[in-house]
Amino acid sequence: LHRNAGETEFHQAVQEVLESLGRVISKHPEYAEEALIERICEPERQIIFRVPWVDDNNDVQINRGFRVQFNSALGPYKGGLRFHPSVNVGIIKFLGFEQTFKNALTGMPIGGGKGGSDFNPRGRSDREIMRFCQSFMVELHRHVGEYTDVPAGDIGVGGREIGYMFGMYKRLTNRYEAGVLTGKGLSYGGSRARTEATGFGTVYFVERMLATTGTSFEGKRCVVSGSGNVAIYAMQKVMSFGGTVVACSDSDGYIVDENGIDLALVKEIKEVRRGRISEYAELKGDGVHYVKGGSIWDVPCEVALPCATQNELTGADAKTLVENGVIAVGEGANMPSTPDAVHVFQKAKVLFAPGKAANAGGVATSALEMQQNASRDSWSFAKTEERLAQIIHSIHDACAETADEYGAPGDYVLGANITGFVRVAEAMRALGVV
Ligand code: NDP
Repeated sequence: LHRNAGETEFHQAVQEVLESLGRVISKHPEYAEEALIERICEPERQIIFRVPWVDDNNDVQINRGFRVQFNSALGPYKGGLRFHPSVNVGIIKFLGFEQTFKNALTGMPIGGGKGGSDFNPRGRSDREIMRFCQSFMVELHRHVGEYTDVPAGDIGVGGREIGYMFGMYKRLTNRYEAGVLTGKGLSYGGSRARTEATGFGTVYFVERMLATTGTSFEGKRCVVSGSGNVAIYAMQKVMSFGGTVVACSDSDGYIVDENGIDLALVKEIKEVRRGRISEYAELKGDGVHYVKGGSIWDVPCEVALPCATQNELTGADAKTLVENGVIAVGEGANMPSTPDAVHVFQKAKVLFAPGKAANAGGVATSALEMQQNASRDSWSFAKTEERLAQIIHSIHDACAETADEYGAPGDYVLGANITGFVRVAEAMRALGVV
């Protein structure tokens, strides 16, 4: 603990994985040899740097940039960049650690990494965002590359930010290296369906999980937290599968619309105006209820999809959801449920899809973007979405089969942790002590 002092979220993520590994080590003691578990918990490299930039008032601002290159046994480091004031080394390390197993679950040749900055994009002008992204890339470009480390978006980093960073990378290196970043715009090497992939994938996973008990999204009442990239496209896919989304949120509060969320309006507010979810209630008027603060999990539902941030769903929230009759929970965000909450769901036999399996559709589609870039190709939306659905179904089935094999049927947490771990461990053993 003293080696990683104060890194609360990192401790939480490591503990969650280690708790699943007892069964695999008793069956395969070779995975504990040569300090493999200790090596897997130690990032290969951590980069922390100063990001100076000039705001619109001509004042100099200083932020801190991070890139944690966690594990490259399976391929180049791959994982998003997060711009949010809460970012610190412990958060980036938890995300990079989770990413390593998530990427292994996709079955694609990608290692794990994560990065970002404590920069707060809220209220910043487009020019400020551009100057920040450029300054961030002035340092980051030394550490990334198509064969080294391939960042993408995360909280606070979408198509606009990736564009500004790619522009600066291209200028600094004098190389049109499309495969250095994913989540690019369609006009310069992006993949169709990447924007939608994480949210869509989460819903594909939950649909397959519901099917194991003979049910589906059809007619189900759903609550989705957040209203960013993952939440918006999760809502869209729930609706296309016949479910009704009655509530969504941002960090200020949540809205409840019993007629079903008007997704076109959410997209207009969040993607075009970059506004707040409270504006939905102002624009819709009657029948919409806005709650400032509070917990969105108080809204009764059958399927809950936390798609905002880590530890947003507590043990108390989980109890409320169970009392209100929730049957399935799918994590679109990374580690949104606290350990207490996961325990409550599992005890109540609620179908529970952990983020590292359920939200892997985003990174899987990023790997498809790398594939298209490498072959100078561009696939149709339908073809890309079909590949995404296949990948998610195979992740679901691998997790379910592993859970069965290890005597814990229906435990997707155990299934995901063991499947991901075994894939990384096999490669690390083959590569020797490096
Ligand atoms: P966005 O920035 O697009 O949206 C984030 C949403 O979550 C916003 O509605 C935001 O509200 C809300 N939010 C953020 N922080 C908090 C907080 N501390 N408390 C309450 N609400 C908060 O990010 P994404 O949709 O891309 O990411 C959401 C989650 O999904 C993250 O956990 C991310 O790691 C995970 N994820 C994302 C992937 C991707 O492809 N984008 C891939 C896999 C996982 P506000 O606007 O008020 O800040």
